[in-house]
Amino acid sequence: MVVSAHSADFVWRSAGCIALHAKLGYKVTVVCLSYGERGESAKLWRIKGMTLEGVKSGRRAEAEAAAAALGAAHIEFFDVGDYPMRVTDDVIYRLVDVYRALNPAFVLSHSLRDPYNFDHPMATHIAQEARIIAQAHGHHPDQQVIGAPPVFLFEPHQTEQCEWRPDVLLDITSVWDEKRKAIECMVGQEHLWEYYTRVGLNRGVQAARNSDNKNIKYAEGYQRVYPQVTGELS
Ligand SMILES: [Zn+2]
Repeated sequence: MVVSAHSADFVWRSAGCIALHAKLGYKVTVVCLSYGERGESAKLWRIKGMTLEGVKSGRRAEAEAAAAALGAAHIEFFDVGDYPMRVTDDVIYRLVDVYRALNPAFVLSHSLRDPYNFDHPMATHIAQEARIIAQAHGHHPDQQVIGAPPVFLFEPHQTEQCEWRPDVLLDITSVWDEKRKAIECMVGQEHLWEYYTRVGLNRGVQAARNSDNKNIKYAEGYQRVYPQVTGELS
């Protein structure tokens, strides 16, 4: 389960993870809390006569095409608005319902801090709060509570300022073509295509350096929120 603040974030930051797990048989659900219609759609706003609804439907179509290219099972748009992102309790309960319906194996969202973007940590806060409510026996006691899905924070745009560091490097070499295809669905943000290709290559070099697999070319970094639980260190 991926909780994305805006409609393109899941592509730059976790498209490889989505494509990889879809191929492994996971049913990946992407929740886009907003379309990024105000804050992350500058190119569309430069079109003369553009409206808010026009931007939203354009971003929605791009995100749906990207999710399809990655083999995601489902993409859902909450349309809560961006810049600023503010949510009511009903939005949190709606996300709790998604958690309860899926009982996800793992959750992806944004870094806990981002001085350039207040919506990103807000999305993580919402994802975390909904996760904890979904674990609470007193919330809809008639339903099954969820387990303890690990939460992975995907890479922000400017990592150091966001106090983010990679605890996990995921080898996405085998699905790079799918990621690049999804990236190219984001026509409204073409200026980021090469940037995130370079991020993938750089993380790939680091992944190869930190493993015995020297064939890794592309990787995505993730920061863990909770400790990894294991019966064996290897
Ligand atoms: Zn964003």
